[in-house]
Amino acid sequence: MDDRQFRNAMGKFATGVNVIATETDGEIHGMTANAFMSVSLDPKLIVISIKEGAKMLDKIKESNRFSVNVLSCEQQEESMIFAGQKKMEDAFNFDYLEQVPVVRNALAQLSCEVYNEHVEGDHTLFIGRVTGLDLQDGDPLIFNCGKYRELKELESVSV
Ligand code: FAD
Repeated sequence: MDDRQFRNAMGKFATGVNVIATETDGEIHGMTANAFMSVSLDPKLIVISIKEGAKMLDKIKESNRFSVNVLSCEQQEESMIFAGQKKMEDAFNFDYLEQVPVVRNALAQLSCEVYNEHVEGDHTLFIGRVTGLDLQDGDPLIFNCGKYRELKELESVSV
């Protein structure tokens, strides 16, 4: 099995799109990520997965805190900026939630502190304990088979 085939298989699984953000020495760093899952209700835990070599990895280890920002279908540009696919002219303006930088107008902003971390292969899984959250209405940005998409409601079928 080659890497491309594995990536294509994983890409069949449609996900939302998040921006992870953290602050070290007064500098905010953001990174687009779709490897995200809810883990536990009591305590409230989530998991993100960061690849070896990503700048975000050392920054989260240093700050011990990060935010997960679930992007809306109007925030493809933010996803591209924090995936290194588009450059910004000016500095990106973050808001704060529980002293952690968050992305304005995200559908969900979760501030987290690192609860545990596990190195698995070429990624590190950070388990985050959710310390605060803020929600907004709207439709999510979707990522599937390497493309950004929007949700489409299916006609309900009466059985
Ligand atoms: P960089 O590549 O240096 O930063 C990312 C980009 O964000 C750069 O262009 C940088 O200029 C910009 N940026 C950062 N902070 C700021 C700021 N304050 N103001 C303005 N611009 C800023 N990788 C994973 O490890 N895990 C995942 O789950 C994951 N999911 C992804 C999902 C999608 C849909 C996409 C498109 C990519 C995903 N990636 C994932 C890849 C990851 O987003 C990129 O490899 C990213 O470039 C890695 O970021 P970095 O921390 O190494 O820093």
